[in-house]
Amino acid sequence: MSHARLLDLQERAAAAGLDCMALLPGPNLYYLTGLQFHLMERPIVAFFPVGNTPAIVLPEFEAGKLAAAPYALTAYTYGEDDRSRLDAFQQAVAHLELVDSLVGVEARRMRVLELRLIERFASNTRFEAAEEVLASLRMVKSADELRHMRRAAEIAEQALLAVLPRVRIGQTEKEVAAELTGELLRAGTEMPLPFEPIVASGPNAALPHSTVSERNLRAGDLLVIDWGAKSGGYCSDLTRTFAVGALDAELARVYEAVLAANEAGRAAVRPGVEAQEVDRAARRVIARAGYGEYFVHRTGHGLGLEEHEEPYIREGNSDRLESGMTFTVEPGIYLPERGGVRIEDNVAVAEGGVLTLSSLPRDLQTIGSA
Ligand code: ZN
Ligand code: ZN
Repeated sequence: MSHARLLDLQERAAAAGLDCMALLPGPNLYYLTGLQFHLMERPIVAFFPVGNTPAIVLPEFEAGKLAAAPYALTAYTYGEDDRSRLDAFQQAVAHLELVDSLVGVEARRMRVLELRLIERFASNTRFEAAEEVLASLRMVKSADELRHMRRAAEIAEQALLAVLPRVRIGQTEKEVAAELTGELLRAGTEMPLPFEPIVASGPNAALPHSTVSERNLRAGDLLVIDWGAKSGGYCSDLTRTFAVGALDAELARVYEAVLAANEAGRAAVRPGVEAQEVDRAARRVIARAGYGEYFVHRTGHGLGLEEHEEPYIREGNSDRLESGMTFTVEPGIYLPERGGVRIEDNVAVAEGGVLTLSSLPRDLQTIGSA
């Protein structure tokens, strides 16, 4: 966290025609200030005016955290009564001169609660979704951020390696997920996990976002495990698919197609390439294998402080990749009722091409035999 990030934000906000950014607790606020608050019933809003000192409205009992910020934020605190809450917002809005201004907000995070409190005292103020400004700030990772992302991948891999030898035919998906969650904690992940692990077996593996069930693993199943860890606030998000006992020939063929698509997708990554080219490279391999209609999602998504962020690796995204961007490459094939394969890696765009942050083997492994 540094003052440079604040200046960068103010510069980008000004270029977008905004007078101020108003952020809620979450990854953007963390990126800019290092401050972590819960999004709860008591509103917290940080204001980043262009060319002025940032300010924050927050409950009195949270004010102690501000000492850790890398630069001063003018604090407007309130107690447990409604009147003092209103006063705090009124003072902040007056001090920041928000009347008649254009305020950038996080469209997917800002709530009616906070919006109404600002509007109440800032007449004629307009709000605009400013996700692009914020994404542009966070999309290219520093060496320090990349170190955390690599560490998050290592923690996840270490946890899975501890679980695999213990997976048995007859175990439930939930039992595997419980062991994996325990090993993630033992391996050093921060909490909360970026997302709850997905353990999907047999027909459940045909659903890209299956929920963990009581289904028992059976011989002949494909087993999809999608899991991640966190280090320094940064996420990993990996998927490996295993054969439980012997697979039928078609499922084995599907596996090879997804593996080749994962490799083609990663090989297409380099600075200057459009994000959609990576999607096309992976998709082409699967289409040629005859399974194009069964690859039902985008090839990947950006990864960082959030498990889904920009850049999105999908058809239609012509944004060009830059060195330091980080995202997943995760092609899959899903055969309804039968099973599915997904192989997901985390990559960083590097000067010379691609740096794959995850290193677990990708060849088909058979597990579960006693
Ligand atoms: Zn995933
Ligand atoms: Zn993913």
